[in-house]
Amino acid sequence: MGEVTVNTEWLSDCSGCHVAIVDLHEKILNVLEAVRIQRCPVLTDIKEYPHATVGLVSGAIRNEHDRHAAEQMRKSCDIVIAWGSCAVFGGPAGAGNVHTPDEIAAAVYLENKTTIPAPPPKREVSPLESVVSPLDTVIDVDFYLPGCPPHPVFIFEALTALVAGREPEVNRRSVCAKCKRNMEKTEVTEIRSSFDGIPDPERCFLSQGYTCMGSVTIDRCLAPCPTNGVPCTGCAGATMQILTEPNRDIRTEIADRMSRLTKIDRDEIVRSLERSSKSHYSYTMATSMIGCKPTFQIKRWIEDEQADYEAGGCR
Ligand code: SF4
Ligand code: SF4
Ligand code: SF4
Repeated sequence: MGEVTVNTEWLSDCSGCHVAIVDLHEKILNVLEAVRIQRCPVLTDIKEYPHATVGLVSGAIRNEHDRHAAEQMRKSCDIVIAWGSCAVFGGPAGAGNVHTPDEIAAAVYLENKTTIPAPPPKREVSPLESVVSPLDTVIDVDFYLPGCPPHPVFIFEALTALVAGREPEVNRRSVCAKCKRNMEKTEVTEIRSSFDGIPDPERCFLSQGYTCMGSVTIDRCLAPCPTNGVPCTGCAGATMQILTEPNRDIRTEIADRMSRLTKIDRDEIVRSLERSSKSHYSYTMATSMIGCKPTFQIKRWIEDEQADYEAGGCR
């Protein structure tokens, strides 16, 4: 491939994927030697969309601006990469899909206990669409680079692969593949919250009754959370097995594994995961690969949790 030019754009997101470019540190020099970055909201003040070989698009589609910007990127770039979990799956904002835009606006502007209530702005902020949508529901996408944000190793690999004229390497491993903790059978009988006790640093969180999503999450991070004492929350999105196999599901996969490793009843684990489903599915629920599965019934789980709470039975 000759000179590789790059445009980037961010849609509805937290800007973390763009900030991850800075985390390339001195590797950015290698990238800059090989590519010419043209449009990039954190580095350049270019509003237009010049023609580019590669377009990196972060963020999900949530309003008219996002649709327009995504379409401009598709028209101007030969290759479009959905960059980060927001673009690939909808990302954490996807949890908004269990509420209406009016409910979200009311929670932010009218019912927020830490701010003075005020009507939602109409002119300055584009209205929210009814749901959060991943990038490929609006434009064709050539490659997917999930992660929240993707680790610089994977960003670098993707860019250097494209410069070399080859396809970026596809890694199908789960976070467990890079985690050093030992999965072993224990006598643990209770599910633990993240604030219960101090976890054993050598042992798999599941063996100790803590919820860890490493086994159902694709490795786009090299397992920093379990390595540093924090269970994985699944921010890179689900593994290909979970996404593509209709009968595999985040909550049942974790429950199967944890119940085999402990003495905790499988159904109790499933119910516990359903009660906190907005957390466990937040990164991926906006993608039809999760949201349209017959096993995904988050609205019912939330109603059950509310009923439990009102009956005083919530843990
Ligand atoms: S994927 Fe994560 S880091 Fe990237 S924009 Fe979305 S929330 Fe931010
Ligand atoms: S489930 Fe979590 S703690 Fe256990 S091996 Fe996988 S990533 Fe590590
Ligand atoms: S270990 Fe899990 S929560 Fe932590 S960065 Fe990786 S995918 Fe995200």
